[in-house]
Amino acid sequence: MAGVWVFADHRGGSFRKVIFEMLGEGRKIANQLGEDLTAVLLGKDVAALTGTLAEYGADKVIVAEDSSLAAYTTDAFAKVTSDLIKEYQPSIVLFAHNAIGKDLAPVVAQKIGAGQVSDVIQVIYGDQLAFRRPIYAGKAFTNVVFNAKPMIATIRAKMFEPVEPQAGRSAEVVSASVSVSDIRQVIRDVVRKASGRVELTEADIVVSGGRGMKSGENFKILEELADLLGAAVGASRAAVDEGWRESQYQVGQTGKVVSPSLYIACGISGAIQHLAGMGSSKVIVAVNKDPEAEIFKVADYGIVGDLFEVVPILTQEFKKILAE
Ligand SMILES: Cc1cc2nc3c(=O)[nH]c(=O)nc-3n(C[C@H](O)[C@H](O)[C@H](O)COP(=O)(O)OP(=O)(O)OC[C@H]3O[C@@H](n4cnc5c(N)ncnc54)[C@H](O)[C@@H]3O)c2cc1C
Repeated sequence: MAGVWVFADHRGGSFRKVIFEMLGEGRKIANQLGEDLTAVLLGKDVAALTGTLAEYGADKVIVAEDSSLAAYTTDAFAKVTSDLIKEYQPSIVLFAHNAIGKDLAPVVAQKIGAGQVSDVIQVIYGDQLAFRRPIYAGKAFTNVVFNAKPMIATIRAKMFEPVEPQAGRSAEVVSASVSVSDIRQVIRDVVRKASGRVELTEADIVVSGGRGMKSGENFKILEELADLLGAAVGASRAAVDEGWRESQYQVGQTGKVVSPSLYIACGISGAIQHLAGMGSSKVIVAVNKDPEAEIFKVADYGIVGDLFEVVPILTQEFKKILAE
């Protein structure tokens, strides 16, 4: 068995940053194991994307193109990916811990009889590779080692450094034959919603609101701050359950996991299930009128006050700083 693989899922002809982060860490793993770094690209008419993967460090790109792969289905993607793994026998396969990776990695692992670790936030290099992941909603961490190959892992976004792309760098491109039948899911239509803002899991700054926002309308003050900072707007589950934000913006154990450089939590109490989704943010700022709120225990900066007074002041102050 040899080769470090990165499953390069793509949306609308481009890659999310997490793919480049996986290629960055994949390069370190490949160096440690003395193996090649391979990107695996599935889809229809995707060959043009191979150059980007080469520039971000892939030595080889395996391309599987077929009309059955035009839109993501678990059946087709799991069949093709597991067939490729059986044929080429990589040591390790990394998937993004996003909607596709979380769906696909366990099915592929089951099909090939491999072990799998989810939501990896650190790779520990020693005699044996170990994969660190949070458990119990982030209350503890565990280091997972494998005693068999291939190792399958899903990787949390924004935890690893991408390599600097090298313009013009090339990779060996291998066209794989595809054999897919019995796809049980039929994708009739893909409806994309554009918020005009950076995607939550990719954002470097996230401004989130909770039940303390008191209405969906009031999120406007967070949107104003977010737009100024080029940030995404997130929400607690309480805010989503109230119908103030759509569920795609929920941060937490049953929502999205974010690791931005800056997370600004407004009117959020800091329940463990919320912390599970943002606890790995580099700097956390909390605005809450309750000085005893749990969120202050994880915050780097805490502002005790009414968010309806504090947030507009923050926005004004950021405006001044950014105008300088
Ligand atoms: C299985 C399970 C999964 C869950 N998954 C998630 C998840 O993914 N994400 C998630 O967020 N939750 C999740 N929850 C829910 C979680 O337990 C909490 O109920 C939720 O996070 C609370 O949201 P909140 O902090 O917005 O609301 P609250 O806990 O009601 O807190 C509101 C806060 O706003 C403050 N506040 C009110 N008014 C103002 C004001 N004017 N100015 C400043 N501060 C103000 C209050 O002091 C309070 O601290 C889950 C729960 C379970 C059981």
